[in-house]
Amino acid sequence: MASIFTKIINGDIPCYKVAEDDDHIAFLDINPNAKGHTLCVPKKEVDKIWDMDKEAYLNLMDFSYKVATAIESSVPCERVGMTVIGLEVPHVHVHLIPLSSMKNATFQHKVSLEKTEFEDVAKRIGEHLK
Ligand code: AMP
Repeated sequence: MASIFTKIINGDIPCYKVAEDDDHIAFLDINPNAKGHTLCVPKKEVDKIWDMDKEAYLNLMDFSYKVATAIESSVPCERVGMTVIGLEVPHVHVHLIPLSSMKNATFQHKVSLEKTEFEDVAKRIGEHLK
């Protein structure tokens, strides 16, 4: 069965899209640790990051770099953290999280955002992509 992220990639369910290229998509995490928490996802569905072939992994890191630097330029924070977990969604994704303190990195402290806040921050990050 297709992962929930494949359904997003195919346009079957909505997302707050930040960036896209031929092989990747970035969209906001729906249950964010902090405003601007973004997921970078390869379009090819692979469960675990270390099962990706090396070239696809490096391409994902390159895409994540572009998105992370756009987040850093557009979302107030001390720095942008990067985490890979995958316990909830078995489709490789890189979490990019604007960090102001350790609690933003814990996945135990969530922020609640209005639809318009998701839309605004996704747009703002997108405008800072180089
Ligand atoms: P994990 O697999 O543990 O790295 O966590 C998966 C992440 O995906 C969680 O932070 C979820 O909030 C996020 N997530 C799950 N479904 C969606 C969705 N439909 N749109 C955006 N983010 C999602």
